[in-house]
Amino acid sequence: MLVDSHAHIDTSRFHTDREEVIRSAFEAGITCIVDPGCDLDSSRAALTLAKAHPGAIFAGVGTHPHDATTYNEAVRAHYHEMAKEPEVVAIGEFGLDYFRMLSPRDVQREVFCAHLQLARTCDLPCIIHVRDSHDDVIELLRVHGQGLRGVFHCFSGNVTQAEECLAFDGFMLSFAGPLTRQDNALPEVARMAPLERILVETDSPYLVPKPIRAKRNEPLFVKYVAEKLAEIRDMSLEEIAQTTTKNAIRLFNLDAHPSFQHRSKDERGEAIR
Ligand SMILES: [Zn+2]
Repeated sequence: MLVDSHAHIDTSRFHTDREEVIRSAFEAGITCIVDPGCDLDSSRAALTLAKAHPGAIFAGVGTHPHDATTYNEAVRAHYHEMAKEPEVVAIGEFGLDYFRMLSPRDVQREVFCAHLQLARTCDLPCIIHVRDSHDDVIELLRVHGQGLRGVFHCFSGNVTQAEECLAFDGFMLSFAGPLTRQDNALPEVARMAPLERILVETDSPYLVPKPIRAKRNEPLFVKYVAEKLAEIRDMSLEEIAQTTTKNAIRLFNLDAHPSFQHRSKDERGEAIR
């Protein structure tokens, strides 16, 4: 039983076999999938997908920093409206990406703050993308993010940066495929992060974890991230699955969704409560 807390299964990379991919994940024990939108269209697509899979797929609405220039007042109004749907469990993904810098830095910062405001208005957690932008994210969160909750998705920083992120009480760190590789500080971060504040994700279709050689990532592969986390923490896969599932339920308030409760009784058993 695992939650893939971040998978873009609404994207075109899944157009030919989306339902098959979803079915194989659920058959393998993935309890649910959170699909965060990256702009208005993909947020709509994520919501449509969530409605088609009640209690199994949930959506985020938001604009990715790559697309920050497409965000405006009309888009915000749509997100606000969509956020009233029970299937929308987060604002995101949004954030700052200074690695690819596909939108100007000042626009990214402005749109970032607008999303924080929206999360506050809607009382929803934030799904935050950080790439080569740690200091700015922390600075803006300190000023505009007090009292908010959320996740630093696909966390990619070092231990010091993780500590700064974890200083925001309502926030968790989410680990993805890069945890399974050797060339980073993530195992160290995964060792120090409090158990009640970690999530796992795939970020499908990107970031295929080891040892999978496929070109496209999919929710089923979240188990390889969880296995790596279990190895690093010297815990069983079952314990990591229970812990991260419980964290995801708490952060995204999944129990509030009637269909999720129904699924939880039928399919999840009591083990993870
Ligand atoms: Zn993403």
